[in-house]
Amino acid sequence: MRRHRNVKIVATLGPASSDYEMIRALVEAGADVFRLNMSHGEHSEIAERHAIIRKVEKDVGSPIAILADLQGPKLRVGAFANGEEELEIGASFRLDLSDEPGDARRVQLPHKEIFDALEPGATLLVNDGKIRLKVKDCGRDFADCEVVVGGTISNRKGVNVPDVVLPLAALSEKDRKDLEFVCDLGVDWLALSFVQRPADVDEARKLAKGRAAVLSKIEKPAAVKAFDDILAVSDGIMVARGDLGVELPVQNVPPIQKQLVRKCRAAAKPVIVATQMLESMIESPMPTRAEVSDVATAIYEGADAIMLSAESAAGQYPVEAVTTMNNVACEVEADPTYRDIIESSRRAERNSVADGIVAAAREIAETTQVKAICCFSQSGTTALLVSRERPRVPIIALTSVEATARRLCLSWGTNCVITGNVDRFKSAVIAAVHAAKDEGLATESDMIVVTAGVPFNTPGSTNIVRVAPCSEKLLYASQAD
Ligand code: PGA
Ligand code: MN
Repeated sequence: MRRHRNVKIVATLGPASSDYEMIRALVEAGADVFRLNMSHGEHSEIAERHAIIRKVEKDVGSPIAILADLQGPKLRVGAFANGEEELEIGASFRLDLSDEPGDARRVQLPHKEIFDALEPGATLLVNDGKIRLKVKDCGRDFADCEVVVGGTISNRKGVNVPDVVLPLAALSEKDRKDLEFVCDLGVDWLALSFVQRPADVDEARKLAKGRAAVLSKIEKPAAVKAFDDILAVSDGIMVARGDLGVELPVQNVPPIQKQLVRKCRAAAKPVIVATQMLESMIESPMPTRAEVSDVATAIYEGADAIMLSAESAAGQYPVEAVTTMNNVACEVEADPTYRDIIESSRRAERNSVADGIVAAAREIAETTQVKAICCFSQSGTTALLVSRERPRVPIIALTSVEATARRLCLSWGTNCVITGNVDRFKSAVIAAVHAAKDEGLATESDMIVVTAGVPFNTPGSTNIVRVAPCSEKLLYASQAD
């Protein structure tokens, strides 16, 4: 499925997008990656969606990535005797460990660890930050709070504790079960919610045992602070603006988004900008101008991927939302300003042979009329380096490893093609020419750039760059031994 843009589109699946026809329509409209949200849906539903995606993948003949988003240590209050209560500004409200139904004066917060970590002065946010509580006094099993911003509190509403690094395990019991389940099913990416420290990522990686790449969702102030160390141990990042905008003042989100996107690109790791990108399209076939501008901004910044949440999972216009993202992306990427921004923000630290080879490939593409950069990449590392260069011509990543092709679906500009096992440079060039022609990116009279590493099948060995003609006759005449 050939795309006419480089930024990738992630679509979350849910009740509005769970059958074959809809999932296929989303792929045809432009979805490159599907997100399965483990906070919702039974395992049987997750398995069903997974099977449908793999069927669509087979039918369209291009790899599709599946990202399973683990719920993480999401804190919630207990239940109320009346289902809900109104909290007035200035009132006192107690959180404790008792499982008695709550009332206007108290409710359960069934997380013992939180009480150990809380200190007077800390802020607790309830229901996406709509209610704000300030801790006045606390002990091992209670916290007496003052209501700073009031509102309706109801059963099992979420609680955020922004100022405190919580002594919570990165993965709850449910997360561990979900992780095992989705790794067994065969997903390509695991997203970890509420990551606080690098050790959280290490723990998930240990459990995943190489079955999926690990992506950290940045949605806690602690994760922003420890970002460089978290990035170093993650395969990818999500700027999770929903919870981030609850835990930090909303105006902090755009600068953080910009900084994280730049750092990820410099590290050659894919970054997703997520949440509320086309929020109004949950109920309307047309986005607001501000939403279109937000999508465009993420693309101008050089994000690898942009994401739909409820718009595609539970909204009335999933296909229209994907189409909107696709149209905005095509328009932005055709703008000469976009190229200027992308090129002037190229800040890679280059220190390996592969770094030099991919920079040379990009340079050749800028100097000549070559139609594509074809890179052989078994582990995906070289393809990520080519993607980091953000070249002007399409990238074709060739690999014999299906998992690599699928994971790369999240990365800027990569068109992934699965090849047979290639063991000689000569046959690699021929395979690359065929792939470029099959993808409709080159014709007989064109030239392409090919990068590869000899000996083959040695990760990190990229050491050849070659400009090859696409005409069979010229190709055979010009093949070096
Ligand atoms: P969520 O993560 O949708 O799982 O909460 C994204 C975000 O917080 O932005
Ligand atoms: Mn979140």
